[in-house]
Amino acid sequence: MTERTTVIKNADVVLVDKDCAGWSQVLRNGAVVIEGDKIVAVGPTSNIAMDYTSFDLTIDGQRKIVLPGFVNAHAHVAGSFLRGLLEDIPNHFYGYALPLEKFLTRDSIRAFSLLGAVEALRNGITCINDHYYHSDQVARAFVASGIRGIVAETVLDVDMGKLKDGKYRHNIDSGMKALDKGAKLVSDWSGRGDGRITCRIGVHATDTCSEDLLLKSNELAKKLGVGIHMHLAQTAKEVAYVEETHGKGPVEYLGDLGILSNRIVAAHLNYAKDSELALLSTNKVGAVQCPTIYGKMCVKSKLDWFAEQAVPCGLGTDWLSMDIWDNMRSAIGISRTLTGREVLTAPKALEFATMGSAKVLGMDSSIGSIEPGKKADLVVVNTRSAHMSPLRNAIQNAVYYASTGDVETVFVNGELVVDSGKTTQVSEDETIQKAQVLAEEIWEKLPYPANKFIV
Ligand SMILES: [Zn+2]
Repeated sequence: MTERTTVIKNADVVLVDKDCAGWSQVLRNGAVVIEGDKIVAVGPTSNIAMDYTSFDLTIDGQRKIVLPGFVNAHAHVAGSFLRGLLEDIPNHFYGYALPLEKFLTRDSIRAFSLLGAVEALRNGITCINDHYYHSDQVARAFVASGIRGIVAETVLDVDMGKLKDGKYRHNIDSGMKALDKGAKLVSDWSGRGDGRITCRIGVHATDTCSEDLLLKSNELAKKLGVGIHMHLAQTAKEVAYVEETHGKGPVEYLGDLGILSNRIVAAHLNYAKDSELALLSTNKVGAVQCPTIYGKMCVKSKLDWFAEQAVPCGLGTDWLSMDIWDNMRSAIGISRTLTGREVLTAPKALEFATMGSAKVLGMDSSIGSIEPGKKADLVVVNTRSAHMSPLRNAIQNAVYYASTGDVETVFVNGELVVDSGKTTQVSEDETIQKAQVLAEEIWEKLPYPANKFIV
């Protein structure tokens, strides 16, 4: 771990509202000081200059915006392998995406995870809450790239082959094997990468896991002292199955099983009833929305509810893309289309993507905002471009107009992991090349020509 000191000075520093109420502010001509892995001072550049005499690294922040690193609260970074295969296909989720995952190997999951981690860092994401198969390989990629990550081994016991044709068949033995892998992941990887890696138990969903497996997963998470990361009320099919089998909605079902608590991070929730969303709030379950993918999946988001109820919500990218800028803008657009009002503003969307996600993950005391004592996870955005000019207000300019190419510098744990738009810990070119070769190998194995998917 680095012990050097860094200052970013003369910048617009965004101080994010801790309560996610939409009151974030901009410190003009501000400075941030990093010592080792922590932020040690934030203030006007003139004050900082009086308190410190020298730094190992000085970054001039003129015409630059300093933001807290983005926290991606729900993702499957290796899911990028599906790009271009299924975006325009009806029933692509159960019909194609889930069955296609069987073509992945440990090696390809590591390579696609590295691709996702590099993409995330280039977008300004400094922490990813991930859920996938062979998650030791995801963790390996996170450690190598320099990103912070929470990894979870996917646990399910449904037969995916049969589910493709609409039939639910559960086999607890396969679920217990996955759960054993999940426990091993926790013991092998917690705290690795200078403390950047933590773990959760990765429950897939309430329809793809049997009741017994849900209960056993919850017991294991409690025993190991870790949280659960799961999908909840994510599809109409899941809700129909749970209603038919248990006579209630998926959130009510988890509540009756005694599983709802602040240890759970639940993604999507778009098919939950309003009464179920309220149940999540009372039980302090961490809720996550992934707005960009909902349009693609013909799904109506619940962002209007989260914005109107003033309940903190995390933002995630899910799979296929790590573009958090796109997700903040989708969140604003979708919530306004649903309500006809400016229910979600740029400060609030930014808060959801930083503090909101950090709160959902129970990590808000260490990441999510630029404050002395917190981990130095920071993003510097360059605004010297036609699409970012004129620079009037750092928050509105960044949230509405910035994109991946504007992210110039990224720190995670005080380490410079993106410098002048390039990843420093791994080669972006080699990562892209390896992922392309492995994707082409997978396309060769598909039971149908890859171009059949292009409609
Ligand atoms: Zn997901």
